[in-house]
Amino acid sequence: MNIRQKFIILLLLIGVLPMLAVSTIAYISIRDSLLNKTLDQLNSTAIKQEQKVSNFLQTRQEEVTKLANQYDLQVALHDYLTSPSDAHKADLAAILQNKKIETSIIQSIFLTDTSGSLLASSSLNTASSTKLEAPASGSETSISVRSDPADGFTKLYITANVSVNRERAALLGVVFRTDDLIAIMQDYTGLDQTGETVVASKDDVSLFPLRFDTNASLHVSLADLNMKKLVGDRYGEETDYRGNQVLVVAHSVGLSDWIVGVKIDQNEALQATVALRNVLISITMIVFIAIILVALFAAQLFTRPITKLVRVAQRIGHGDLSVKADLHRSDEFGSLATSIDTMGHDLQNLVGSIESQRLRLQVILDSTTEAIFAIDERANIILANKAVEGLIQVGPETLTGKNMNEIFAWKHGLQDFTVNYDVDSVHTYSNLQYVDSTGTQRYVKLIVARIKDETNAGKAHAIVTIHDETSSHELENMKTDFVSMAAHELRTPLTAVRGYLEMVQYKQEHNDPTDVDSYVRQALKNVSDLGGLINNLLDITRIERGTLTLSMEKVDMTASVKQIVSDQQFSAQDRQLSLSYHGPDSGGYVVGDPIALREIVNNLLANAIKYTKPGGKIDVSFAQAGDVYKISVKDTGIGIPASGMKHLFSKFYRVHGGLDSGSTGTGLGLYIARQMAERHQGTLTVESEEGVGSDFVLTLPIYSDALMASLRPGPDAQN
Ligand code: ADP
Repeated sequence: MNIRQKFIILLLLIGVLPMLAVSTIAYISIRDSLLNKTLDQLNSTAIKQEQKVSNFLQTRQEEVTKLANQYDLQVALHDYLTSPSDAHKADLAAILQNKKIETSIIQSIFLTDTSGSLLASSSLNTASSTKLEAPASGSETSISVRSDPADGFTKLYITANVSVNRERAALLGVVFRTDDLIAIMQDYTGLDQTGETVVASKDDVSLFPLRFDTNASLHVSLADLNMKKLVGDRYGEETDYRGNQVLVVAHSVGLSDWIVGVKIDQNEALQATVALRNVLISITMIVFIAIILVALFAAQLFTRPITKLVRVAQRIGHGDLSVKADLHRSDEFGSLATSIDTMGHDLQNLVGSIESQRLRLQVILDSTTEAIFAIDERANIILANKAVEGLIQVGPETLTGKNMNEIFAWKHGLQDFTVNYDVDSVHTYSNLQYVDSTGTQRYVKLIVARIKDETNAGKAHAIVTIHDETSSHELENMKTDFVSMAAHELRTPLTAVRGYLEMVQYKQEHNDPTDVDSYVRQALKNVSDLGGLINNLLDITRIERGTLTLSMEKVDMTASVKQIVSDQQFSAQDRQLSLSYHGPDSGGYVVGDPIALREIVNNLLANAIKYTKPGGKIDVSFAQAGDVYKISVKDTGIGIPASGMKHLFSKFYRVHGGLDSGSTGTGLGLYIARQMAERHQGTLTVESEEGVGSDFVLTLPIYSDALMASLRPGPDAQN
């Protein structure tokens, strides 16, 4: 039941119950007083009716007594008793007939002897079996009512003793018509439409017809009206022979065992209260409806803010923190709304800060180069960051639910190795290896750290961080290779220089000038190579430290390239290679450091010569492509395998193995060349096919004053 329904019920209880109580009490008291008034009326009518019946009976008794004492009857009886003869009997009958004719309300008169045998009658058809009831001793008459066997009607019998010589000699019976009695009782003043008087004997025989239905008197018994039990009581509510509720007042009639009952239909008597009851019911209904309407309105008034607050709280619960109650009221609802609004605002701030922390964490996680996994206690992955993709070539989103042991088959050295992901605190594993999906051997450091958060039950159990050390491992290898290679690269020209100088010394000691020039030139060339190598090493250091200074000027790149090709012609011929230049003689101006630019092209050409087998061909070309110049060094050499392309421009990287493979070099040339090209806002790229040849392409922007201004002073010039 919601608050509105409760409110309505409360108002109904407060409003309708007292009203119902007051109405009921008023109704009952009005009904009672009306009932009492009606019963009083019935009572006074009953008294009057009883009086009338008593008077009637008394008069009839007096008449019968008077009749029994009449002289002529007593004489005729005396005569008959003295000499019973038909003549005397006829006299008696004649007297009785006369008496009957004198009194119109007498139906018949008859005379019996003391043993009950009929002596004479006013009419011939009087049943001979009629047994008269002798008056009780001390009383002059007896009254009875019985059905006349001759016609079946109920009739009133009054009997008196007839004395002869003061001795009871016979019984005189007089039969009266009851119509007269009914006639005198038919005064219904004050009894309205349904009121009537009933006279009955105490032995439940109804004596006189009812007001409206004369036949009914034959069927109604006293039990129907319970009048017998009501005698002496003033009041009764009973059901009559029609099944109607009636009000009855009953009185005993003196001189007889009769009862006079006066009754009226209860509905009629209480008609006024029915109207009153209807009015009260109508008023109650109206009040009931009015209260419901008022209650609805009031409930709406009170519950609207509550409903609104509930809705706001629900929306906050569903995450809509921007919702506001905005109840501008000065009551408790107002304070509650303000509290909810403040709570929503605080929650919004809190959620905002949690969200920004989460985003920051996400950014940190995604920007870190280390692969990070959150795992549960069975080493199943719950979360992984972006860096994971670099490690296992699978997006982090596809890893959720997978097991770490399925993904990584660890090795330590040459042995298989099992990582324990269920650690108590932090455990670090160094120098682990595995082979990734591209077949590359990876070297990693792995850290398993337990999350000690009791509230985290069932969630992340540990964080696994994998640091990919493959490149530094490779770098380390490359450095080791480099050191032996550099030592070799330094020693080779030095040995050559020393050899040539010793030859020169020998020639001088023997005064033999032949070939001395050639020896000196060879020595100088080797010194120059040595210088180049040392320059490379210095360039690397400067590039790494950011101290490489370039002095930018306008350079005729065409002339420079052409010159380099001509300078290297000798080396190419030495290696039985054909080297040719394709392009203009001059005029291709760029902004750059002439020494650095020369170094780039020199390097590319030296590599082409170095990595092309005798009989091969090298084409150097110079051309304009849009707003850049393209310088291409294309050879028909050994080419570069696809796996080597990725690292080609990394420092110390050499495709063709270490010193023991027979190939020499430091793996620095291309790295420096690309760095230099980029410092000139140019590019250095390569296309190559193993066994077919390579095409290294250097692009440099065409000279302009603006370019000059942007490149000079170079950022390193200040260093
Ligand atoms: P290096 O001193 O070893 O030549 P570079 O940086 O100049 O060092 O070159 C790196 C590697 O690239 C070389 O070791 C070589 O394997 C490969 N390389 C460079 N130029 C060519 C080329 N024209 N043809 C084939 N391989 C080349």
